[in-house]
Amino acid sequence: TEDRLRQAQKMEAVGQLTGGIAHDFNNLLAVISGNLELIAEGLDAISGPATASLQRKCETALRATDRGATLTRSLLAFARKQTLRPSIVDLNELVEEMSELVRRTTPGNVELRIRPHDGLWLCVVDSGLMQNALLNLVLNARDAMPDGGVLTIATDNTVLDAAQAAQAEVPAGEYVLLTVTDTGIGMAPETVSRAFDPFFTTKGVGQGTGLGLSMVYGFAKQSDGYSRIASTLGKGTTVRIYLPRSTNTAAAAPAGPPAALPQGR
Ligand code: ADP
Repeated sequence: TEDRLRQAQKMEAVGQLTGGIAHDFNNLLAVISGNLELIAEGLDAISGPATASLQRKCETALRATDRGATLTRSLLAFARKQTLRPSIVDLNELVEEMSELVRRTTPGNVELRIRPHDGLWLCVVDSGLMQNALLNLVLNARDAMPDGGVLTIATDNTVLDAAQAAQAEVPAGEYVLLTVTDTGIGMAPETVSRAFDPFFTTKGVGQGTGLGLSMVYGFAKQSDGYSRIASTLGKGTTVRIYLPRSTNTAAAAPAGPPAALPQGR
């Protein structure tokens, strides 16, 4: 629809802008952290009581540059300026490998349901980015259920004909579908329409970066797929990631170790 087109154009423009800034910023961060490391080494060599406190300040500054690097990585993912390392992935395996981390991330009052589809088709994605996208969705679901609820992670094979595709607002085709559903606070329509925007957050200062869903959006797009949000205020939210079915019949590559938790979330 026309709305969808305008949204896509806006995301494209914002992506170009943020991608350029993030790229330059990343280079500056590298200069800063490189020099901080040299200072820390220099302090090491002349170690004494006065340098100990300077050492600690150096470490604090280095940790801040690490957080900055994580932020710029999210931005680059949104802007699709990241180099992809795609492989043939069985999403069920990836979800299974992430389940321990997901369990540790969600509090006890959140019931976790994992619903893998038997005979799931394969897809071609960067498994590290896929893991990151899933984690971002899980963290959002957790944040949406402060009083507990049910978090469901499901996979499915999906064939969309023209009518179904129009309904789902994605092109017709064959997809591997990842669905993350929560029974949390939900979103008003205005929130849904801005949720993918980088830096859009309704969470408090220091709580949200507004980059989680932009990363998910960029990841799906970069994988030639789509991400969509369906949400009802007070009822809950479903985020879907449609990934093109891979026709390659080779065995799926192992997903590798789970990604580190996104910083500050
Ligand atoms: P952040 O989580 O840092 O705020 P995101 O880009 O992940 O950034 O999300 C943007 C906004 O979208 C959130 O601040 C919140 O308002 C809304 N949102 C995202 N996921 C959910 C969810 N599962 N339930 C309710 N609101 C959500």
